Amino acid sequence: MLELCKLLDINVNELLSAKKIIKESYNEQAEENLLEMRREIESQNKKILTLNRIITFLGVVIYVLILLAVIFIEIPMVIRNIIIALALVMLLLFGVFNLNIIRKTGYYECQECKHQYIPTFNQMFFGMSGITKGGIWQIKCPNCNKKCWHKKVLTKINEK
Ligand SMILES: [Zn+2]
Repeated sequence: MLELCKLLDINVNELLSAKKIIKESYNEQAEENLLEMRREIESQNKKILTLNRIITFLGVVIYVLILLAVIFIEIPMVIRNIIIALALVMLLLFGVFNLNIIRKTGYYECQECKHQYIPTFNQMFFGMSGITKGGIWQIKCPNCNKKCWHKKVLTKINEK
């Protein structure tokens, strides 16, 4: 057997377990696939968040334009009030919709225990958003029960 190994320039282990070699390359491929998946999820989620920011900005601009229009255009008071009320309801629904998109894109990581999960809408709504470090919320973690900062992570697949 040793002679054969020497002849083939491989070790006994490799001779005995042709499967092992196949398995190793299989693992490498699986790892590569996982990284590829991670990159795809990350870039997809980044696109969703960017689009959401643009939509939020446009929504606020439209809202301000509606308010300016009803202030400066001469219309009966009743109609003016109805338009303002409708615009407020629209803005509220719009905010809920946007917050839900932010909530469901990727995960939030507890900075205390590193637990990664998707918070409920209420947790997000009553949490504080950090403006300086985008995507940071103060939520009570369901894993360690501490109210602490949560960081947005785009994917659960970890980098090696
Ligand atoms: Zn935690």
